[in-house]
Order: sequence, then C-alpha cells, then structure tokens
Amino acid sequence: MQKFYVTTPIYYVNARPHLGSLYSTLLADVASRYNKLHNKKVFFLTGTDEHGQKIAQSAAAVGKNPQEFVDSFIPAFKDAWKLYHIDYTKFIRTTDPDHTQAVKAWIKHLIQKGDIYKSHYAGYYCVSCETFVTDKDMPHGITENIPLCPTCGRTTEYVSEESYFFKLSSYQDRLLQFYKDNPDFITPRERMAEVISFVQSGLKDLSISRTTIDWGIPFPGDSKHVTYVWADALNNYITGVGYGVPGKEKEFNSWWPADLQILGKDIVRFHAIFWPAFLMASGLSMPKKLLVHGWIKIGEHKMSKSRGNAVDPIELAATYGVDQVRYYLVRHLAITQDSPFTYSDLEQRINSDLAHDLGNLLNRTIALALKYDRATVECPQTWSAKSVDLYETGKNIIVRFMQEMEAGYMNRAYAVVWEYVHEVNKYFHNQQPWKIAKSEPEKFAEVISATCHALYAIAYLCWPLMPQKMEQLLSDLGKKINTEQDVFAQLLSKPWADTFRVTHGEILFNKIEIKQETQETVMTQEEVKQSPTITIDDFAKIELRVGTIEDVQVLEKSDKLYVFKVNFGAHGVRQILSGIRKYFTPEQILNRQGIFVFNLAPRKMVGLESQGMMLFAKDAQEQLVLIAPEHVVPNGTQLS
Ligand SMILES: [Zn+2]
Repeated sequence: MQKFYVTTPIYYVNARPHLGSLYSTLLADVASRYNKLHNKKVFFLTGTDEHGQKIAQSAAAVGKNPQEFVDSFIPAFKDAWKLYHIDYTKFIRTTDPDHTQAVKAWIKHLIQKGDIYKSHYAGYYCVSCETFVTDKDMPHGITENIPLCPTCGRTTEYVSEESYFFKLSSYQDRLLQFYKDNPDFITPRERMAEVISFVQSGLKDLSISRTTIDWGIPFPGDSKHVTYVWADALNNYITGVGYGVPGKEKEFNSWWPADLQILGKDIVRFHAIFWPAFLMASGLSMPKKLLVHGWIKIGEHKMSKSRGNAVDPIELAATYGVDQVRYYLVRHLAITQDSPFTYSDLEQRINSDLAHDLGNLLNRTIALALKYDRATVECPQTWSAKSVDLYETGKNIIVRFMQEMEAGYMNRAYAVVWEYVHEVNKYFHNQQPWKIAKSEPEKFAEVISATCHALYAIAYLCWPLMPQKMEQLLSDLGKKINTEQDVFAQLLSKPWADTFRVTHGEILFNKIEIKQETQETVMTQEEVKQSPTITIDDFAKIELRVGTIEDVQVLEKSDKLYVFKVNFGAHGVRQILSGIRKYFTPEQILNRQGIFVFNLAPRKMVGLESQGMMLFAKDAQEQLVLIAPEHVVPNGTQLS
C-alpha cells in the first residue's frame, strides 16, 4: 500500500483559529482525503506552536502563565477542526513531552556533528514573526533608526546576547543544488525564484537559542539558554511521526519524507531554507513538495486580528454550512495569489455552483425518475452516442482533475470538475427527459441512468472537498462511499454498468436569500439603459489578450498615470499607460495578469505612447477591481 504524509503549519496559540488557519488546514484535509480515495495509507499532521517570546508576552498580558495560556486555546482549535470535518491523524503540540525530548536529542546530535556552535548574537528581532532580521532585509524601512520587519512591517527590537548558532552558511551550496535538481519542490514555482535569490545572496549562520526569554525547550547542556522557537517548531514535522521517540524508528521511516507540506507565503523562508538545511544536517531526506498559498484579504488588507477584519470560521459555518464554506475557500480562492474574501461572492457561489448547478441537477433527476416509476435506475442495453460522449468527457475530466490535484492546484482541480457539472447539465437539458418519459421510455431511462452515473463520479471527485454533502448525494443514489480501492482507477477503467436505487433525501444545497441591500449596486434608470447591440463581427474586431505587468513606473508628470511594461509572450512586451494610481499601489499590481485591449490604436499621453488599454470593473464602493483570468494562463492568450 502506498503512503501519503501531509502537514499543515502549526498555529500560534495566542488566538482562536481564523480563516487563514482554516484555509491551510482545509487544503491539507482535501489532499488527505483525495489520497485516501487512491487507497493510500494517509498520515495528516496538524497542531500548535506553543513556545516563544510572542506567546510568553501574550500570556503575561492577561496574567496567565504560558502553559495555562496555551492550554486555554487548544479546545478552540480542536473544536473548529471537528466542526469542519478535518480528519487529521495527529494533533501535535510543541509542549508535548515526546516532541520536546526529540528536539533536545536533535540539538545534541547536531552539536556532536559540529553543526552547532556557541557565539554572540547582536541584531534586530521581530517578536511577532519570531524572526531575526538580517542585514539583507535592511533597510526595509526604518523608523528612528530601528529597522522594520520585512515580513510584517512591525517595529523590531535590538537583541544582544550569547547564542548558539546553526551553521546554515555551510549548507548554501547544497541547498542551491537541491533547488536545481528539484524544480517542482515549491508550488507555485514563482516562490522558488525568491528563495533561490535569497540563498544566492549569501546565508549567515542562524541563531537557534535565546537567553533573554525562558518560555521554550531548555537547550541541552546549557541551562541559560532556551531553543529558538523555529528550531523547535519546524521539527514537529518529523517528531510528529516518531522521529527521536524511542521505539518509533520503524514508524518514522515508514512516513518520512512528507509528501506535501502546506504553508502560507509569509513563512516560506523558514520552510524552504532553514528546514531543508536542518534535514540535511540530520541526514534525513527532503519533503517532496511545499505548497505555498497566498493570503486571504478582506478588502485591500491581509486579514488579521490586529486590523479587526478577521472573519470567524465558526460563525461562517453556522450561517452558510460547513461544506459550503469548504467549497468556497478551496475552489474560489486562488492558491497561488492573495485572494479577496467577500460574503457576496460566497453567497453567489453557493447559489450558482452548488444549489443551481449541482443540487438542482440531482433533484430534477431523482424527481423525474420517481415520477415515472424508475426508482431502480438500470443501464440501457446499449448507450447512444450522446451518452458515450458524456462518459468519455467524464474520463477526460478525471485525468485533468488528478493532474491538478497532484500539482497542488486544488482550486483548478475543482474548476475542472465544474466544467463537467456544466456538461452534464447540458446533456440533461438537451435530451429533455421530461418530454419523452411516456413517448420514448427507453431513451428516458437511458438519460436518467447516464445522469446518475455522471453524478456518481462527481460525488467521488467532490468528496475530498465536501465529504458530508457528497455522502448524502451518494446515499440519494443508493450508494455508499467506499475507499477500499483506488476509486479513480475504477472510474477510469470501468464502463457505466451500475444500477442506482434513487430516493428523495433532504435538499442537497439550499439557496441563500441574498438581501437586497447587500447586492452590488442599486442601478439607476440611467445605468440600466442598454447600449445598441452589435454583431459578432463587430465584436471580433476587438482583440483582447492576457498579459502580465512586469514593471510599474510612477509617471511624475501626472498624478494619475502609471507606465506599465506588459509581457504578452510571443506577442512581445508593450508599454501601456493606465490612470489607476488612486486605486492601486505599484506592489498591488506588479506581476499580476490582466486583460488588455491589444489592437487599440496607440495613443500619446503626456509625451508617452500607450500601446493598449487595461480593463477594470468598479465595485459597489466605486473602487476599481482588476479583471484577470481565474488562474494564470500563458501571456498573450487571446480572449474568445
Ligand atoms: Zn514580523
């Protein structure tokens, strides 16, 4: 039996879980369940990061000792994961005795090997990120001569203390070689470039102990020191499956290396540089893949507790349903980029994708079958060409779905599944079974059977994402989830030959009533007025292409304009001027894809030629919103 080992980052326990931690954890749960459907043995590790200065400070602020303080948050995490049907194998806490013992043994081993030595650290430290700010990060912004943290932008503090160092610098070449040999180590690949350039610019040895705090794993052999929190926390990925735990060597060897490690983009450096170097020093193999996701943004900002714009996952589930929220976060947030979260988008997706596209299809199929006494849906003698097409399309969809899942692009994988949902709807509506139930009973039975077979495959494809709802769907078809075999291999190799016993269960997805005031815009008479129609030939005159903004310059002569360099792939790089300074900072738009009118006659503005026009939409607050493909497509792709 093949194995699959997946991890989430371990979460700081100074607050309840938020939407960002839910998102990381959901991605791991979907990957875990997907691999269960491949009949693999799965280990899914999640947990909490409980040491360090930030936790100690947060505990002190509320007058608790740190252990009491971290203990008080554990139920919130476990309850949230239970509510969201997160089926983890183990919940590790870095205060667990097994973990702390193993970390001590790990440090002793590295001291013996000569990878750890004692010296003195003087420099800046970000308590919020628990990170040493290196020379390279300065000047990232300086207030009163104190550098700001390059990750979170907060003020850092000066630290000067005796410290143990890990010889990170001696792993520089091996790391670079490893990245070169494993170009798919990080998904998405863009993040790999950042990592390589950071390592190439030179690695300094890493301070891995602190003397000015005491909330941490005692440093072996030197009671003045505690272990730096990241040197402690990263090791959870190996101690969680038995590393350094006496008697668990065999278990550890059966799980390590991890197949997939999920993390947010703010902790890439720790996972893509420090972590592989630690593993190299320990003589352990590298994880197979890091999946690095962007941030969830509420409006223009990263969601965070300090901004007060955090969305509570518990409330969200109560209002919209667990599987609906799982669906929205995994399918509609782009893994590779920062993604906005909005309630109106969530509501629309539930109504259109789930209630309309999938729920209605199931409902109508079953209603028709029952109305015409076909509760037992049997296969026809032979399948017509239209049904064979639907079957073949389904196989093609499964192959593409699997490719996206293996690459870690779960949002794209489910976009592919929805292509199929639309195809099945099209088939159903074109065949008009409600019209032929009496006149052509055999054809009617075939359409119902084909639709049931397609829904059956969809239920399995969507089970990793919406386990409860898909088990309900299967039950409505008279089936039960079965992970005793490789489901995808079965779906791809078996012809349609099932009998379904359909029953009317509960409505699969209820529509959300969208309140009038939350709807985008109340249109005025003026706005509703339509433009005159044009022919398809008129439209064909407009050439729309996708391009990536690779450079943004502020045009000093104007208070509105940016000058972009836009890459259109084989169609070249163009200079395009855009008057959007009021709406976007250069960072918000740099390296983004957009849609451009490609054959607009060049225009001169303030002495510069603009060779095209970028498209935007306005939201209800009159803010410009960038229009981009749902996921990255080749530059120069023409819209059709
Ligand atoms: Zn920071």
